[in-house]
Amino acid sequence: MKLQDLIGELEQKHVKLIAVSKTKSVEEIRTVYNTGIRDFGENKVQELISKHEQLPDDIHWHLIGHLQTNKVKYIAPFVHIIHSVDSLKLLVEINKQAEKNNRIIDYLFQIHIAREETKFGLRVEECSHLLNDAQWTKLKHIRLRGLMAMASNTSDANQISEEFTRIRHYFMEVKQRFNQVTDNICFDELCIGMSSDYAIAIACGATMVRIGSLIFGSRNE
Ligand SMILES: *Cc1c(COP(=O)(O)O)cnc(C)c1O
Repeated sequence: MKLQDLIGELEQKHVKLIAVSKTKSVEEIRTVYNTGIRDFGENKVQELISKHEQLPDDIHWHLIGHLQTNKVKYIAPFVHIIHSVDSLKLLVEINKQAEKNNRIIDYLFQIHIAREETKFGLRVEECSHLLNDAQWTKLKHIRLRGLMAMASNTSDANQISEEFTRIRHYFMEVKQRFNQVTDNICFDELCIGMSSDYAIAIACGATMVRIGSLIFGSRNE
């Protein structure tokens, strides 16, 4: 697929594109940057930092992979959205590092919807529990923007659609609850969908998609 066609399709549907550039070189990212894309996603902190240093300042860097508490300080000065928040402990650290850097860091809760056991993320009940935690509302240097999830790694479109629909329902439920925009909540992003399932994700209400191989070609992982 031509990148311009993908960009056009997503623009028409008002869905934001995050180009997932993990394992790809700075030169490859620059080529995609030159087509006008400004949002890039990485899943490893070290790689994110290194690419941030080498590439233009107007790139929005998204962390889409698991984040360890002791690494938050390295990305806090510049990260655009952290997609993979799955504990209060991690949030407390993000808040602390955001305060040190005199900024407010946007984040998503990563929700586990897939059948596979290996994937990271909160279960829906755990997320609701966290949202009820009084300590969470006191963290003023972070802002909850929405939810992120990955569907099962399957070719069964019905199953993927069922999983995305479930997260969409939960998203709407939380959105209704926090319908007022405050300093630390602006709940408007549902980040679901990758190269293989982004069309299903958009049909299920995605506001953001994370697309790697379709843009950059396959990875040798
Ligand atoms: C790698 C990755 C993607 C992109 O995967 P593609 O299949 O290459 O589009 C999206 N989300 C996360 C969390 C990833 O790690």
